[in-house]
Amino acid sequence: MAREKQLVRYQVRSIGREVADEVRAVLRAPDYGHPVHAEVATGPAPCRVCLEKFVPGQERRLLLTYDPFREVEPEQPLPGPIFIHETSCIPFAGEGLPATLANDRLTLSAYGEDREPIDETRTATAIDAAEALERLFANGATQYVHARSTPNGCFLCQFDRTEEIVPFVVELRGGGRVIRRWARA
Ligand SMILES: [Zn+2]
Repeated sequence: MAREKQLVRYQVRSIGREVADEVRAVLRAPDYGHPVHAEVATGPAPCRVCLEKFVPGQERRLLLTYDPFREVEPEQPLPGPIFIHETSCIPFAGEGLPATLANDRLTLSAYGEDREPIDETRTATAIDAAEALERLFANGATQYVHARSTPNGCFLCQFDRTEEIVPFVVELRGGGRVIRRWARA
């Protein structure tokens, strides 16, 4: 009997290296052209590219105006301030919730087609945040989720919906062990 289960998963979309490196080169905000401010980090906010937190008093960062809808709904912008590392860094890659953000106070806003607001929730722990993302993406209308800092209101990263079919595996067992296994994608 086929046992296919469709899991709804999500993946992080941080600010891409190309956009970030362009900002670092021209020191102007994308789309707006506002001058970028360079400084030594004064607090442990995350870089929106690698999603690692700055070491206050040590690491240098750029403050810029950024529209988090620029790739998904550029005609309905919502610009705000963000920080990135002053020098090139590697964009966050990985499934699930970035550990560096998971325990922060987050506001997770789910959006559907045409930037329709679907739902919003606030979290304070990694467990809260993981459950909230599961719940937001369980709603079929949710296309993507924006994470913002609840105390500061700044955009942190986007979560995109990814659908994954778990392969149905047939096993032939005999003598208490698997003799042969077929996977059907
Ligand atoms: Zn970075």
